[in-house]
Amino acid sequence: MITEEIKTTIEKYDKIIVHRHANPDPDALGSQRAIALSLRKTFPNKTILMAGNSVGDLNWLSEMDNVTEEDYQGSLVIVVDTANTPRISGEDYDKGDFLIKIDHHPDNDQYGDLRYVLEHASSCSEIMFDLLQSWNFVIDEEVANAIYAGIVGDTGRFMYDSTSAHTFAIASHLMELKADLPRINQRLSEVTLQQAKLQSSVYDYLQIDDSGAAWAIITQADLQKLGVTTEQAHAVVSTPGRLKGVVSWVIAVEKQAPETGFRIHYRSKGPVINTLAMKHDGGGHMLASGANAADEQEVQTIVSELIEVVKNYK
Ligand code: AMP
Repeated sequence: MITEEIKTTIEKYDKIIVHRHANPDPDALGSQRAIALSLRKTFPNKTILMAGNSVGDLNWLSEMDNVTEEDYQGSLVIVVDTANTPRISGEDYDKGDFLIKIDHHPDNDQYGDLRYVLEHASSCSEIMFDLLQSWNFVIDEEVANAIYAGIVGDTGRFMYDSTSAHTFAIASHLMELKADLPRINQRLSEVTLQQAKLQSSVYDYLQIDDSGAAWAIITQADLQKLGVTTEQAHAVVSTPGRLKGVVSWVIAVEKQAPETGFRIHYRSKGPVINTLAMKHDGGGHMLASGANAADEQEVQTIVSELIEVVKNYK
């Protein structure tokens, strides 16, 4: 069985480096932290490192280790929650001896020597709980906190349809393990006053087509006016979904110089949008995806494609 093969591989290596995707969300950080902490506690003699770039405002959830190129010599690398290699955060991920992918996104890029991908899992953190439990590895309060944060993040607080009875069963286990639900729920839903202002101004920027497709373009000038960083702009991504009649939407956030173009966030209440994201250097889940647009013209193309898909769905 693949899960047993992964366990045996983990047992074999003295040095294990865990990666996740760039622009990390709570699930990327939660699943990375959960396996890293559990391995440290289960195998105190092994060296376990967490690799990747800035965690931004999520530094209350996790912090990265200082990982150098030499660390990869003779190591096992595990990449969590990352669909494709360009999205892996930490450029040396391929310098280890052996690579394992653990994920819940559509498996379009089958990288790694071993892969464990469950597309229907609510989150990578949910998969991580099941793996650690089946291997009898340590799941204590700290590990439970990381897993809970990941599940809450990727299910939108148990709201999205990827949430299953099993997701709730795991949440129940996590409560028994004394995961700090009030603190984590509060941290995950907290925004700064500036982010709250951006959230409300999105209703001004938002354009809504008769079909129920909606879109908003947020420029660097908009962000600067409100004192919101590009990373913090992510807080507005789910906002249009609260509106009656909005079926699927796109938020385009202008990238910060020296980068150019727009980061695209697709969300949907029904029509499948990851096929659209794939056309624009992106991908993700059927109802929540990300992509990139080189300029405003590509953003307009993205909007036209979205309208088309929503019209056909209706
Ligand atoms: P985001 O809109 O950034 O919150 O991303 C929504 C979902 O799409 C997450 O599961 C991401 O991991 C995934 N995603 C975002 N950007 C990309 C991309 N460029 N390629 C593949 N998947 C992506």
